Amino acid sequence: MIVIDGRKVAEDLKNELKTGIEQYRRSIGKVPGLSIIIVGEDPASQVYVRNKAKTCKELGIFCRIIELPPETSQEALLGTIAAENLDPDIHGILVQQPLPPHIDEFAATIAINPSKDVDGFHPENLGRLVMGHLDSCFVSCTPFGILELLERHRIRTSGMHCVVVGRSNIVGKPVANLMLQKHGAANCTVTVCHSATEDLTFFTRHADILIVAVGKPGFITADMVKKGAVVIDVGNTRIEDPSAKSGYRFAGDVDYGSVSAVASALTPVPGGVGPMTIAMLLKNTVLSFKRVNRL
Ligand code: NAP
Repeated sequence: MIVIDGRKVAEDLKNELKTGIEQYRRSIGKVPGLSIIIVGEDPASQVYVRNKAKTCKELGIFCRIIELPPETSQEALLGTIAAENLDPDIHGILVQQPLPPHIDEFAATIAINPSKDVDGFHPENLGRLVMGHLDSCFVSCTPFGILELLERHRIRTSGMHCVVVGRSNIVGKPVANLMLQKHGAANCTVTVCHSATEDLTFFTRHADILIVAVGKPGFITADMVKKGAVVIDVGNTRIEDPSAKSGYRFAGDVDYGSVSAVASALTPVPGGVGPMTIAMLLKNTVLSFKRVNRL
């Protein structure tokens, strides 16, 4: 069985981006810029933002972190986004989620100029993805990372039956639409399952490529997987683990031990899909920069 190594692919990709960014800096004297807006003091969000900023620095991407207090009004947040939309040094804007409950996340999402929406959550980008205009949209980072993993592991997708379990707006729906596209590393026949699906195992056992984004540790067991299937585990649930130094660990949606005996390729958790998400965010930021500068 092939262990799909997201850490290695993400490192390779970041090194490629770094080399490109250094070349742009030398040739046109400009670098990509990412603005990260965080509202409130959610500790997990602060860690995510710090990690993104650190990776930007490693790659030579200009990163602006805008920290707003938890009581920030929706109007003030939208004003901040509007200013970033106009800043020519900023090519990507990310509003860290979750937002405080008094702010409508969708209002924040649609306030971002779609040409700077490197998270790929804006309806215009999702619409372009659905219509197959991959060259002019931003694909959201986790689905885009899954495609990159499949491509770089030369996993055949065209004509294969891809079953997606989960239909969230950030993973299930975009990844299902992505795998459906008439595109090299996609071109699948796609089935989407969710909590109302009857006889889920019937569908998962018919998958050549099984993508799981449910948020329930160990949910997919070996009896639910066809022999030789490629299994992509998006799940990343924090669970208590007294044996871990930190007291917790992250668990995937796939029962790795049993499924690894059946699958032909499988993403581990951690170290599979997770590391790809931030790498694809930076890839999208560089893509935005290249579009603006016609590179
Ligand atoms: P979500 O919004 O909670 O969606 C979960 C989906 O699973 C829903 O569509 C739900 O169906 C479906 N579901 C729940 N129980 C089910 C069942 N018994 N049978 C079939 N489907 C079922 O979750 P999400 O945001 O997509 O995230 C899913 C997991 O991926 C989480 O562990 C999250 O942490 C992880 N994640 C990881 C990354 C990464 O970078 N690695 C990125 C994003 C998310 P209904 O629609 O019917 O409720």
